[in-house]
Amino acid sequence: MENMYKSLGISRQVLEFGKKTEEALKERFEAIDRRAEYNQLKVIKAMQDNRVSDIHFAATTGYGYNDLGRDILEEVFASVFQTESALVRPQLISGTHALHIALSGNLRPGDELLSPNGKPYDTLEEVIGIRESAGSLKEYGVAYRQVDLLGDGTFDFEGIRKAINEKTKLMTIQRSKGYAARPTFSVEQIGEVIAFAKSIKPDLICMVDNCYGEFVETIEPTQAGADMAVGSLIKNPGGGLAPIGGYIVGRKDCIDRASYRLSAPGLGKEVGASLGLNQSFFQGLFLSPTVVAGALKGAIFAANIYEKLGFAVVPDGRQERYDIIQSITFGTPEGVIAFCKGIQAAAPVDSFVTPEPWDMPGYDAPVIMAAGAFVQGSSIELSADAPIKPPYAVYFQGGLTWYHAKLGILMSLQKLLEAGAVKI
Ligand SMILES: *Cc1c(COP(=O)(O)O)cnc(C)c1O
Repeated sequence: MENMYKSLGISRQVLEFGKKTEEALKERFEAIDRRAEYNQLKVIKAMQDNRVSDIHFAATTGYGYNDLGRDILEEVFASVFQTESALVRPQLISGTHALHIALSGNLRPGDELLSPNGKPYDTLEEVIGIRESAGSLKEYGVAYRQVDLLGDGTFDFEGIRKAINEKTKLMTIQRSKGYAARPTFSVEQIGEVIAFAKSIKPDLICMVDNCYGEFVETIEPTQAGADMAVGSLIKNPGGGLAPIGGYIVGRKDCIDRASYRLSAPGLGKEVGASLGLNQSFFQGLFLSPTVVAGALKGAIFAANIYEKLGFAVVPDGRQERYDIIQSITFGTPEGVIAFCKGIQAAAPVDSFVTPEPWDMPGYDAPVIMAAGAFVQGSSIELSADAPIKPPYAVYFQGGLTWYHAKLGILMSLQKLLEAGAVKI
């Protein structure tokens, strides 16, 4: 084993440090495995109950009328998330697109949209019109209001009570912190804010941006009162196999409205060819609980490694996890650059390229990104990115297997050592 790690570029010193860290995490890893076991059974039960068969893997083309595989896949998602209906499509090209379809399908001119967790994920700013943008909800006459979180990262229930008015139609809750500095919400916390909001306005549509949260816990937000949950198939629920796609699960009327927005009024869910992708979607969902477990172990391993070396990590090495994202603050550009180089060097694809910071459109500082992925932009695969500006924090997530996540983190440490950015 040591020779194999050595052949990949990991020194004995780094390997030993990793080994000691891993040994102390045995119990946490066992708890993650138990949760993955439960979620694996949940997915198998959903596939059995819906009588998934190999005929469902056949491709359709053109309009995609009577695409049995597509329809059964949506039934399986509805079973897993315990909802009346689901829209799971390659025509939903990303998480942002799925969120846009769910919002624009369910909001009408004169309605107000409420976010109880402050500013939502970056890409939603243009969808909503927080940042001026052609085609935004704002342009269509949908107003927006947000209630910021309290100082300790919890919901401001009094503020939410005051914000809900006769125009408030839909509340969108973001489960994962994404790249913001606040804790990720547990499904239980999301359930509390939904119950509170519905006690004020029972017909309020409550939607959850579920990105990065799927299968981290044994229940999903739709089991805690959410009318809709939305996410990307190149994150957790695609299991690394889905090459594209998004999902919206929830109440039948909400999903139908979203489907009329995705295709056309009158057509809805009846059209949309699956083009031969169904097998990847089914199989990716099937693998997702174990893939998420591997990614979680990687995040916890990284938190413990870098916490020991004196860096600030969020979540910390012991905290309960509600998503797969880990942030590490290195405090120097050299630190984040060395970390990203390590993640890249450990990848199965493009391990030979060196990531460099560049001026990406839409960002106010150069950004460095590391990803050696089978699917472009897939962030369930091991990936890291960081804006080159104070506090010099890197965000990293994913790993299709725990062993790959572990190699990536050991390699990041190796590169930091070689750059003289840490001492162990
Ligand atoms: C990734 C993400 C999105 C957007 O998904 P894309 O597939 O990148 O468009 C939205 N919200 C959250 C919380 C995310 O993590």
